[in-house]
This record gives sequence, C-alpha cells and structure tokens, in this order.
Amino acid sequence: MKKTKGKSLRICVDRVIPLKWKADAAALAVKENPANGPRGLRMMLGASAHPVKMALYTGKRWKPGRKLGIRFLDGSKTQRSLTEHFAAMWLRYANIGMEFGSDPKAEVRVSFQADPGSWSAVGTDCLLRDAFPLAEPTMNFGWLRDDTEEEEYRRVVLHEFGHALAAIHEHQNPRGGIRWNEKAVYDTFSGPPNNWSKEEIDFNILQKYKLDQLNATAFDPKSIMLYSFPPELIQGGKGTRNNNDLSAGDRKFIARMYAKA
Ligand SMILES: [Zn+2]
Repeated sequence: MKKTKGKSLRICVDRVIPLKWKADAAALAVKENPANGPRGLRMMLGASAHPVKMALYTGKRWKPGRKLGIRFLDGSKTQRSLTEHFAAMWLRYANIGMEFGSDPKAEVRVSFQADPGSWSAVGTDCLLRDAFPLAEPTMNFGWLRDDTEEEEYRRVVLHEFGHALAAIHEHQNPRGGIRWNEKAVYDTFSGPPNNWSKEEIDFNILQKYKLDQLNATAFDPKSIMLYSFPPELIQGGKGTRNNNDLSAGDRKFIARMYAKA
C-alpha cells in the first residue's frame, strides 16, 4: 500500500472569501439555512459539549435534507467515477443528497486542473457567484490522475467534499492540540512545492480559527480533515497521521450537522 510521502506535503488550501463579499456570503448562507444565523450559532455552541470530533464553520451549512447538484467541468471517466464513488461515502452519515449531472446551476462544480493544487469552497460559499462564477469550479483536484492510487482518491475526495459540506481543517481547530515548531513550518512551506509567503503560511497552517467563528469540538487526530504533518513541524516530535478515511468522530459530527428531520 503506497502512501503519499510526508515530504511532498500535498495539503489543500482554503478558498477565502474576500472581505468585500463576506456580507453577501453570509446573506446567502442564512437564506439557504436559517440555522446559519446568530441564533443558530448560539444553539450550536450550547450543544458543543457532545463528544463530536471535528470543527465546522457555523454559518456555512447547507439546509439538511437538500440535494446538492454536482457538475464535473472536466476530467476523465476514471477521475469522475472515482470522485463520485468516494464523495458518496459522506452520504451514509449526512442527511443530504448529491446529484451528479450536467445541471449548469449545480452548486458544486468540480475540476481536475493541475494548478493550483487541491481546494474547495467551504459550504454555502459555493453560492457566491462573485467568487465562484457558474462556469468555474468550486472544487479542484490538482493531483488526482487516472493512475493515482484509490487510497489517495479516497483521502483527497473525502477531504474536499468535507469542505463542500462546510467542514474546516482540523489542524486549525481552536481546541486543537497541535503546537507547531514555527521555524520549521516557515522553512518547509516557503519552499517548493508550496512556495508560500509568511502570510499564506500563517493563514493556511498556523492560524487557528476563532472559537466564535465556528462550532469547534475536541481535536480529532483521526479526522479526514487533518492532513499528515511530519514530526519536525510539531513540538514534541510526533507528527500527525496520514488519515485516509472518515473517522468515527467525522461520521458522528456530520450526522449531527445534517441531522434527519
Ligand atoms: Zn482542506
């Protein structure tokens, strides 16, 4: 069983909504699901004592029970069918549907361009046309090819579709246990293949989300939303695992975020 080498550090990058569009994004989110509003936020925080294992933006969840349209903008038959297969694993636990097809208004638009890596819009941000015009992707798989191992498809597809369902990165969970070796983090990510600036490294790796931005739960070292980091980047000398499946915590969490009526 081949694994992605830690050195390649193929991690996905959040797509951030620029400040000027944040109010529009929030309005779309509340229109989609009233629970995204401030009252919903208080309710979610009140419920956060449950032992669920992931962090999710409150304010970007789809309406539970709705069907998301998913359209491929490009990609081979193999790329499309493996993506569809692994994305559907979330549906066993979440009360939400996915309809793969050619609807031009599909909420989630998937591309397989080599640049710029793998990423996805987070939850209802997909609806923001200014940031994601209908002809353009809301999700990209930068390194999944016809000959990529299925395990890597599972890892990356589950992760990006986790973002599409509004999940955030586990390494940025404000309740997370990761204490970074910051110098090593800057050294690593300022070099190839990422070549990130200090600001990009701060944003993508070091910064934790603010507790009031989300419904944070206990840090889950097995979450699909946690990427593999080598030991030298983390104080204490233990890296994080290369998770490639939904953890028990991921399943419980998404079931609560998209609960049955
Ligand atoms: Zn990600």
